[in-house]
Amino acid sequence: MPSVSSETGILSLEEARHRVEQHASRISNRVAETTDLLSATGRVLAEPIVADRDFPPFPRATRDGYAVRAEDVAEVPARLAVVGEIKAGDVPDGSRNLNPSQAVSIMTGAPLPPGADAVVMVEYTAQTGDTVEIKRSVKSGENFVRRGAEACQGQMLLDRGTRLDQAAIAIAASVGKSKLQVFRKPRVAVLSTGDEIVDIDHTPGPAQIRNSNTYSLAAQIQNAGGEPVLLPIARDERVRLKTLIEEGFNSDLLLLAGGVSMGKYDLVEQVLGELQAEFYFTGAQIQPGRPVVFGRCMHGRTGISDPHQTYFFGLPGNPVSTMVTFELFVRPMIQALSGGKPQPLIFLKARLKSEVRTKTGLKRFLPAVLSGEFENAEVELARWQGSGDIAALAGANCYLVIPPDREQISPGEWVSLVMR
Ligand code: AMP
Ligand code: MG
Repeated sequence: MPSVSSETGILSLEEARHRVEQHASRISNRVAETTDLLSATGRVLAEPIVADRDFPPFPRATRDGYAVRAEDVAEVPARLAVVGEIKAGDVPDGSRNLNPSQAVSIMTGAPLPPGADAVVMVEYTAQTGDTVEIKRSVKSGENFVRRGAEACQGQMLLDRGTRLDQAAIAIAASVGKSKLQVFRKPRVAVLSTGDEIVDIDHTPGPAQIRNSNTYSLAAQIQNAGGEPVLLPIARDERVRLKTLIEEGFNSDLLLLAGGVSMGKYDLVEQVLGELQAEFYFTGAQIQPGRPVVFGRCMHGRTGISDPHQTYFFGLPGNPVSTMVTFELFVRPMIQALSGGKPQPLIFLKARLKSEVRTKTGLKRFLPAVLSGEFENAEVELARWQGSGDIAALAGANCYLVIPPDREQISPGEWVSLVMR
């Protein structure tokens, strides 16, 4: 979606997101470390995982029944001589081929005997003494998986850069990797700004509020695979702000919260400018979160992405704006700095439960409650008092996405949402 105002540095959500993804996709994390398989969930592989043997390593029955030669049961009913039994874990006698008109009782997970080329499910058989009656035909290849059909020995099962979810962990376990090479977690500095903000272990004065953004951001950073580095709160004062920003550039990514709006004491952009920062956008056509800033500073010290550059985001300080803009823009950057691919932002769909009215012009991400069950997902706005209302956010579980051209949406309409 082209933006009318991209020359001012204010982009549509889509343009802004793509800009972050473009930068993120050029990052590669080269610092690897070893981790135990049990601690590897959510980490990103720094080594490929290769099949150490064929998968499956033997022709594996997928049903309980009788291993047969399909041609013997082309016409049914057929009567076959039962010449043995193979349970899961048994090794069939490789020298004893299944001869015509013979069958072997076989269990799920057991290796097929040589000569057999199908399994008849036990439900379609009746055994009396050493004879089994087969009541249904099978085709050659039915009800077993051929050796190596899933993967051959030496084949790559997981590439470097794969984020380890439960399926990837299962693969690592299957090839016997109790220790894995993963990328080091990126260090993400958090710098909250504002004269009114106090540390959480201080008693706030009448016009002060406790610093919640540093902690909500730290939670989001951890959840995205990063290691938060908490900086002290920066007053709305140039010199100290500059010192703390420079300190933040020692990390792999710097997140600033607050101080990016148009107020007289919103100094973040000015100070970054004095540090020769490059800005890739200075706003997005979204609400909350419009003043969000993304850029890079060449004065950063040794980091993952490049020895002399550190990316930064300036997030608006309203707690809901801070959280929303993290999800929309910061997460893909942390995924990339973690060594993985930045994942696309995908909206889910649900039916709107109660009418929504908003102003047009900006794409809105409003705290909402997703409910319902199975195929019936329903969503409605949480009651909230604006971007500072963390109480409303705690009662919500997603953001309802309202397109910029809609001022009214009726109950029952399909709407988009982002989980958080
Ligand atoms: P700002 O983006 O600096 O204009 O801040 C917008 C609003 O967010 C103000 O009401 C701030 O008091 C509030 N705010 C800013 N930083 C924080 C923080 N670290 N924790 C909680 N609220 C904050
Ligand atoms: Mg402020």
